[in-house]
Amino acid sequence: MIEALLPALTGTVTARRDADYEQVRRECTWVLNVPPRRPELIVRAASVEDVVAVVRHAAERRMPVTVKGTGHSHAAAFLRDGGIMLDVSALACARMLDDGITAQVGPGIRSAEVAAFLAGHGRAFPQGHSGGVGIGGFLLGGGMGFNGVAWGEFSAANVEAVDVVTAAGELLTVSAEQHPDLFWAARGAGPGFPAVAVGFRLRTFPLPAGMHSSRWTYPFEAARAVAQWLQAHADGPDGANVERFVSLEATATGGHVCKAVAIAFEREIADARAALATLADSAPPGALDAAGPAPVSFARLYAGGITGEPGRTVNDTIWTDDPVGATVALARRVELAPSPRTIAMVDYRPAPSRSLPDMAVSIAARGFLSWGAKWGDQDDDAINVGWNDVTQAALEPFSAGSYVNETDVVRHPERARRCFTAAAWERLLDVRREYDPRGLFPPAW
Ligand SMILES: Cc1cc2nc3c(=O)[nH]c(=O)nc-3n(C[C@H](O)[C@H](O)[C@H](O)COP(=O)(O)OP(=O)(O)OC[C@H]3O[C@@H](n4cnc5c(N)ncnc54)[C@H](O)[C@@H]3O)c2cc1C
Repeated sequence: MIEALLPALTGTVTARRDADYEQVRRECTWVLNVPPRRPELIVRAASVEDVVAVVRHAAERRMPVTVKGTGHSHAAAFLRDGGIMLDVSALACARMLDDGITAQVGPGIRSAEVAAFLAGHGRAFPQGHSGGVGIGGFLLGGGMGFNGVAWGEFSAANVEAVDVVTAAGELLTVSAEQHPDLFWAARGAGPGFPAVAVGFRLRTFPLPAGMHSSRWTYPFEAARAVAQWLQAHADGPDGANVERFVSLEATATGGHVCKAVAIAFEREIADARAALATLADSAPPGALDAAGPAPVSFARLYAGGITGEPGRTVNDTIWTDDPVGATVALARRVELAPSPRTIAMVDYRPAPSRSLPDMAVSIAARGFLSWGAKWGDQDDDAINVGWNDVTQAALEPFSAGSYVNETDVVRHPERARRCFTAAAWERLLDVRREYDPRGLFPPAW
């Protein structure tokens, strides 16, 4: 089988019988608690032609294919037993088109690389909050990036076309005009997308030269007041121009703090400082520490590591229409977390825009909560996974749905449909039946 594939490839193939298989498999995932799922072959594509060759090879032999980008899926959704795991992370090119506004990128390019590339052209894009996150999986799940609300609510709203290799082994460009159903799915289906994305055409934005941020640290008891403050700001006139969130976390001395962060993305420095000054004016009393407004850049934000280092991790999310109540409930759970490395974040947003493009990513609300138990020792797996599941149950009364890119739809497949409206879920099933009738690309759930 492998012998038939090798001559057609410039990339590499690792089979289960190979001595370095386990090392290659483990290197695929960002999480350190690598699930014990083992594909027959791991193919690292070096070109689009490699992708076509692998898909055709698999289709002829009815071997399921999973696709891996940069491996940041918390659930390691691309790791399955059997079949081929196709790694497209080497397809990481970027080029600006002649209009100076549109960029063409490969799926393997990472957020920090996208930001640096575009900054060189005076442009920007709402790429992910962690510099290592690859654009491919990020956009396919919808993408919640920097300045996301002002720049389209979801980053995928700025995708104009996607180059895909279909289950039939055809290389197509899909857009609102060409294969609109597959294009619809490419903007939010996440690990349910029934094709391989090998290129994205992105509409970019002028680089906000006046980016500034401010930070406040509060004692944990202030979590409700901090949430009320940030949500009131999100609901106010400056709501869309500032990104604001809290991080609920343990301190080195065994306590907990609530850190509030606001980032203004403006073209003029004075506007950014003014937006943050308005926010500071209404800050609740009792901050332990406050800093800013200070200039920031995407490079500095990534260097600061908002989402932290890899570890043994499980992650989950909810959207909520009650961000304040949900923050308080999440803070109570963080106090009970078995690991002090556990982090929970709440993003406070204006009410979702009613004029979103028609995309598979279809759930949004005023508050977005994500939490990740993070720990170091394998012996602590069960207690941390248990904490995560109890946290999910505790937050269920606040949930308006989840985000497919940061919810463990492998361990909890029943939650996949909660990441979509009922209509979007049905449409996704239809698109999957049309474009992948034989189930070459099984969904993660
Ligand atoms: C530290 C960290 C920070 C994060 N920050 C953010 C954030 O700020 N905003 C946000 O929205 N998300 C964030 N995420 C989640 C992230 O968007 C997803 O994990 C996303 O899948 C990462 O893209 P990837 O290319 O690494 O996907 P992978 O983990 O490689 O793949 C995940 C799944 O996506 C599908 N897939 C990936 N690439 C392709 C492709 N080219 N063609 C077809 N299917 C494909 C496959 O089904 C695969 O199973 C973060 C994750 C981590 C670990």
